Amino acid sequence: MDILLKNVIVDESNELVDIAIEAGTFKKIGKNVPEDATRVIDGGGRVVIPGLVESHIHLDKALIADRLPNKSGTLQEALRVTAELKSTFTREDVRERAEQALQMIIKRGTTHIRTHAEFDPVGGFHGFEVIMELKERYKDFVDMQVVAFPQEGILKSPGTEELMYKAMDMGADVVGGIPYNDTDPKEHLDIVFEIAKKYDKDIDLHQDFKDDSEGQTIEMVAQRAIDEGYVGRVSVGHLTSLGAVPDEQLKPIIELMAKAQINVMALPMTDLHLGGRHDEYNVRRAVTPIRKLRDGGVNVIVATNNIRNPFTPYGNGDLMQVAMLAIPVGHLGGADDLHTVLPMITKNPAKTLKFEDYGIQEGNSATLVLLDSHRYQDAVIDIPDRLMVVKRGKVTVELDKSIQVDWPE
Ligand SMILES: [Zn+2]
Repeated sequence: MDILLKNVIVDESNELVDIAIEAGTFKKIGKNVPEDATRVIDGGGRVVIPGLVESHIHLDKALIADRLPNKSGTLQEALRVTAELKSTFTREDVRERAEQALQMIIKRGTTHIRTHAEFDPVGGFHGFEVIMELKERYKDFVDMQVVAFPQEGILKSPGTEELMYKAMDMGADVVGGIPYNDTDPKEHLDIVFEIAKKYDKDIDLHQDFKDDSEGQTIEMVAQRAIDEGYVGRVSVGHLTSLGAVPDEQLKPIIELMAKAQINVMALPMTDLHLGGRHDEYNVRRAVTPIRKLRDGGVNVIVATNNIRNPFTPYGNGDLMQVAMLAIPVGHLGGADDLHTVLPMITKNPAKTLKFEDYGIQEGNSATLVLLDSHRYQDAVIDIPDRLMVVKRGKVTVELDKSIQVDWPE
């Protein structure tokens, strides 16, 4: 065996087990595994989880908040300021910031990432190329999926459709889209589905970003997924408009989404910052209705979206913090709800991203995070230190928490 991790908790039973890792996979998980390994580690009764899955992040425009601030805090100013900054992004600049953001994320226990990499005829294509390079460079630390993302729209930004095909030819894993930021959402979806079907790739949309439900297109997307044979293959981020729909109208929408197996990425770090900016009092939460979607059978995920830019001027790459934020925002702190939160940053996104050997289970890829928590149910609310990360059987991150104090002899 390569690694034996002793005395750890892997589920809500909180029973102690040992984990044996060999040749990159979980060889044995159980009690009293014989100590026959190159490295034996005592987990000290702490919790182990199967690696955090960041399913919606923009590495290419991370860490730019200090360059040109979004003073109003609105989506409109965020889009305007970012578009202005984007024209100044060089290849080196994107690489430096994206790499810094990626390292922040990896150090905090994320082992799987889906990132939106954008391009347009004005901002150029080099940012996308840099993200594809990072995917290869960091493959021992994270499994990364890259979404070909037309942030400025496709129809209203001529030349972008050609760049979408170029991105797919270069190996993009997922077809992105942004129906709310284009001249015609339906025609936008026509193009997205055509490309996805041609390359046989899943779709991931920036769905909508509104405090109200006027002009929302999620039903169109869900029906389209069914009609095109894309059940279970479409994900949507934000979807804040659903928060403004009364239950009676919401119910059939959620039923249709469940039928189409739409995956929803709630992005509270951004949506709380940009949403409800025109509310004078009783400011709306402007986050998609996480509990109602979950209870309606929709696969719900919590993700980061941005780290320190005009859309989200804070964040440190810690998905646990994002999940913790989602707890009060989504009313997820109750006894029946809290245990559904950790899956929103682990197995729910893993299912969406279709990582099939994911999870603490014999035979699976040996990817795990040792948390400084002593009860599985507290894994999120502790926002624990990530003491160690193992990716495909190799230790990739180790936190040294020791404090050395010298006393006179
Ligand atoms: Zn996004």
